[in-house]
Amino acid sequence: MAERLLILGGTAEGAALARGAAGLAGLTVVSSLAGRTRTPASLPGETRVGGFGGASAMADYFRATGTTMVIDATHPYAAAISRNAAEACAAVGLPRLNLVRPAWAREPGDDWIGVDDADAAAAKVVEVGTRAFLTIGRQEIGAFAGLDGVWFLVRLIDPLDTPLPLAHGEVIHGRGPFDVADERALLAAHRIDVVIAKNSGGAATYGKIAAAREAALPVVMIRRPALPGGETVDDVAAALAWIEDRLAS
Ligand code: NAP
Repeated sequence: MAERLLILGGTAEGAALARGAAGLAGLTVVSSLAGRTRTPASLPGETRVGGFGGASAMADYFRATGTTMVIDATHPYAAAISRNAAEACAAVGLPRLNLVRPAWAREPGDDWIGVDDADAAAAKVVEVGTRAFLTIGRQEIGAFAGLDGVWFLVRLIDPLDTPLPLAHGEVIHGRGPFDVADERALLAAHRIDVVIAKNSGGAATYGKIAAAREAALPVVMIRRPALPGGETVDDVAAALAWIEDRLAS
């Protein structure tokens, strides 16, 4: 039977997996992207962009395309798509693997203040700082809109389509990897006294965390959301081995 792998991507790991799986005989590789980034990395194999329209529509897509296996390599904070994938795979009876980047662990000298979401981060930041480096992506900036006593340095991959919805702040653009020395210089140049981050894991965006530690700055860290269970690996090589096991059986 022809095997068809759907990679739910949008992450560096999803892209690396697509590159690794593209050469496997007897396998068609399809990467699915939410479409949030204007110029995503180019990928081998097929690519589809945009939401499916919920879990049952994703299940319909699996049946219509003859998808035979799914790897959920989405960002650890993209919980809705992961829940939908779990539900759709269960409905169609498809094997599903989660590829989840390990979270960063607190190190000696880290001053992390854990919060559950962006609203809680906004409530906390006013207690600990007045000049914040906000690096949580564009979707939840609005949670900080009501804060008058904090100036924000907001780093985004793509420009906003609308004005920055914050009382005081500036937007800069950049896509990782970010070097710790550059992050140190950025924090100093803007006199940042608190960092607001998600625990994305991986090396590409860790520089700001290390730089905050060096400068003894607090980090308001939005905790990872709960994700659906199931078989889970934390690196691309293990995900490729999972695919090869399926192709061999
Ligand atoms: P989400 O809340 O899990 O997904 C919302 C909807 O977007 C899904 O229900 C689905 O729409 C669609 N979608 C998401 N990922 C998709 C994919 N790979 N292929 C097709 N459709 C997809 O995820 P999110 O809105 O993308 O992001 C949530 C949070 O995760 C953001 O606030 C952001 O901070 C973080 N994130 C970070 C990165 C990063 O690289 N730093 C990347 C992605 C997300 P349908 O229900 O219509 O199918």
